[in-house]
Amino acid sequence: MFLTIGTTGTPERPATDLGHLLHKHPGKAQAFSTSYGTAHVFYPEADARRCTAALLLEVDAVALVRRGRDKGRGGAPDAALAQYVNDRPYAASSLLAVALSSVFSTAMRGVCKARPELPGRPLPLRVEIPALPARGGTGLVRRLFEPLGWRVTAEPVPLDAEFPEWGDSRYVGLVLVSESLTLAEALRQLYVLLPVLDDAKHYWVTADEVDKLLRAGEGWLPGHPEQNVITSRYLARRWSLTRQARERLELVRLAETDDSEVEEIDNAVAEEAEAEEKPAPLAVRRRDAVLTALAESAAARVLDLGCGQGQLVQALLKDPRYTEIVGVDVSMRALAIASRRLGLERMGERQAARVTLLQGSLTYTDKRLKGYDAAVLSEVIEHLDLPRLPALEYAVFGAARPRTVLVTTPNAEYNVRWETLPAGHLRHGDHRFEWTREEFRGWADQVAARHGYTVEFRPVGPDDPEVGPPTQLALFTLGTRKEAAA
Ligand code: SAH
Repeated sequence: MFLTIGTTGTPERPATDLGHLLHKHPGKAQAFSTSYGTAHVFYPEADARRCTAALLLEVDAVALVRRGRDKGRGGAPDAALAQYVNDRPYAASSLLAVALSSVFSTAMRGVCKARPELPGRPLPLRVEIPALPARGGTGLVRRLFEPLGWRVTAEPVPLDAEFPEWGDSRYVGLVLVSESLTLAEALRQLYVLLPVLDDAKHYWVTADEVDKLLRAGEGWLPGHPEQNVITSRYLARRWSLTRQARERLELVRLAETDDSEVEEIDNAVAEEAEAEEKPAPLAVRRRDAVLTALAESAAARVLDLGCGQGQLVQALLKDPRYTEIVGVDVSMRALAIASRRLGLERMGERQAARVTLLQGSLTYTDKRLKGYDAAVLSEVIEHLDLPRLPALEYAVFGAARPRTVLVTTPNAEYNVRWETLPAGHLRHGDHRFEWTREEFRGWADQVAARHGYTVEFRPVGPDDPEVGPPTQLALFTLGTRKEAAA
């Protein structure tokens, strides 16, 4: 399996910068052992004008079969030979993509410590893959690469050059040329599209493949005209994963192309704060109530689910007792604002190690959210359509299962005290429902009972004798009251 990446240069911008970008010295041939065999990197040419790096993967067919078995995919007996005798060693398939990502991982992330200005620059690039298995033929190859700014030359490889009447094999000789892409973008596109064309993933596709796909697809996959083929094939046609990926891509696309909807959500807190009495806006009181309850629970590792623009994450970060803080939101835009607010880019390494922002939907179980001390859902549940609430309930209380869960939500009874709010209206356009105290308690009691938590309720803001407080807070603790006390 073989792939070359080449560039051209000038005396001021020598082509050999490619070596810096790939983190592989043009003067050396290097070998790396990967899960499926040995990857060799060498440069057939390297001077200021032209520089080409070659990646050759020598597949260890036995290791391949063993790994397949380890993962519980041992083939049927009659497939035994096919496991050893197949095209994997020769074709530029998904294995090559995996090798690409392990040998050039830093380049793929667009990082170059020695020359930080390099990765952001588009380069004249030429990628050549002599034997690319391509189900869907040259037509699909074009439809995948051309929208990304590549000029594509794809020649079907004949089954046997001496007998053209036998027709074409399923392989394509591919040359891609572009001047508009950075090396990192090009590598991330290959990492996704090689297995898509191969359409035979060699390893079992797991849920974290969705994350890998979205990470590698950042900046080019949302809105790609063949997005559906790409997600479905990359995820080996596992429907639940494909659907999850498409939903998340759709959200990214929304965030990028139509800001209005997400902006509306982003502004929720600000608007609410404005509509309220100064000097202690409800948002501040709510944050204080959450911080108090978290401190009582002695949590150190905290999830802020539906973290929005990151105000709570920022407050937690200021308090050293919180050693790990994870903000999760479905809105990329909100996360981008949170990241700017926190100054993630400029943050020192130790501080940065304490905080993570994750994009994800709380209506899907997510392995990344397991094992934390506490989770906060502050003004989040009312943004979900009621029929989706059981999915969030399961993801948080059933799967992630932190010891403490804090939920805040508006108290609908209090709305009559809001002078600016017309009768019968919800507080914010994106709220799907607002509950009375009784409704909230009813829900929380059932959730606690179903998942083995105890729950206590606290008012946030002035507790009106008739209609109660503006915000209601439920504090869930895992285990029975006695266990919780012990
Ligand atoms: N917790 C913050 C923000 C509340 S606004 C605060 O108290 O100020 C509600 C947030 O929930 C928004 O940022 C919205 O993007 C997010 N959200 C809504 N539905 C979600 C879902 N299904 N998964 C993850 N986040 C969601």
